[in-house]
Amino acid sequence: MTTDCCPAHRPLTDLDSALELLLAQAVPVTGTEPVPLIAALGRVLAEPLVSPIAVPPWDNSAMDGYAVRTADLGAEGARLRVAQRIPAGRQGQALEPGTAARIFTGAPVPAGADAVVIQEVCAACSDADGDWVQVPAGIGRGANIRRAGEDLAPGTEVIPAGTRLQPQHLGLAASVGVAQLRVYRRLRVAIFASGDELVDPGQPLGPGQIYNSNRYTMGALVAALGCEVLDLGTVPDTLEATVAALREGAAASDLILASGGVSVGEEDHVKPAVERLGTLALWQIAMRPGKPLAFGQVAGTPFIGSPGNPVSLFVTACMFARPFILRRQGVAGDIRPQALMVKAGFDWPRPDKRRELARARLGPGPDGEPEVQVHPSRSAGVLSSVTWANGLAVIAEGRVLQPGDLLPFIPFNELLR
Ligand code: AMP
Ligand code: MG
Repeated sequence: MTTDCCPAHRPLTDLDSALELLLAQAVPVTGTEPVPLIAALGRVLAEPLVSPIAVPPWDNSAMDGYAVRTADLGAEGARLRVAQRIPAGRQGQALEPGTAARIFTGAPVPAGADAVVIQEVCAACSDADGDWVQVPAGIGRGANIRRAGEDLAPGTEVIPAGTRLQPQHLGLAASVGVAQLRVYRRLRVAIFASGDELVDPGQPLGPGQIYNSNRYTMGALVAALGCEVLDLGTVPDTLEATVAALREGAAASDLILASGGVSVGEEDHVKPAVERLGTLALWQIAMRPGKPLAFGQVAGTPFIGSPGNPVSLFVTACMFARPFILRRQGVAGDIRPQALMVKAGFDWPRPDKRRELARARLGPGPDGEPEVQVHPSRSAGVLSSVTWANGLAVIAEGRVLQPGDLLPFIPFNELLR
């Protein structure tokens, strides 16, 4: 018995070890480019962002009210003449003793003032001599003043290199006056789907044909990660066509993702084709769905091949291709998706030696508390189960569950952005 003709009997590799082996090969790209902030969403920061300024740049008022000298306020408070008005965006005059400045949130605190009294505790009036305000006693020095540099001193690192930029990062960069960021160049990912039975949507289905869904799942997943997609389309089940697609992908991309043809049947040409041009390991991963996973390189370009079953492809792409892409894009730190511990709303009586990544839905249970349900179908072909789900429930190898037991749940918003 050779191992190749009997993949079912090959030893299983656990998901974590496979991911570790895979990530060890995910070399970050080196090219960088400057991009304007507005174009930086989803890009990966190539050098730390350091604030060139203090934030806030000067002492400013945290509230609408009156800027005062606390030395002017006796045990009874004080009646002060309102000598100036300082809205946000204006610079006031030095505050004369015995006067107050009407001041608004975000406006610079005038020299000499050492507190802002909120307008709600003041009584303002006007007479022939001008505007006045009655300020209560007991106002502490520094009250309602945001100090210069209180949020950030100049030179503080505000975003580390390797950060995948989200809207809040762009806001932070803008808040320190930075208009462009140096990011890693975009990753180019080639995708193709193998299978003689595949037809693109929009075409009529002939006998024995099915629509090619993986092309769209893969393409969209890769695009959502901010990669440029080199779509090589559908590849027939022949060695020559598979070799040609791999050659094209290797010449023009940073990673090749393929679906289908990774088993070792007569119609599965991915393994021999990759081996002709490079090297390949075919792992039997202890996970369900998505057992076989092909990983290798074609003329130096990494290759990840997943089974053709649409759910297997989806889960494999989320669990393996996504972290590989993130690493290769230059994302630093822990890139594992964060799982929540949630209550099972189902029972799982039969332990399995493979880890189940069950299509699952987190929502309120009968008592209103969050709980997770799993889709009744475990078939790797039922793509509608993936749109029913809002995440993957992780049922560890050998685990049985009863309703109420806690288990990890990975929301899709951890995986699909
Ligand atoms: P394979 O991994 O090539 O043996 O394919 C496994 C199953 O997934 C078969 O039922 C295929 O018809 C189906 N399949 C393969 N590729 C795709 C695809 N791109 N879109 C939808 N189904 C596919
Ligand atoms: Mg096939």
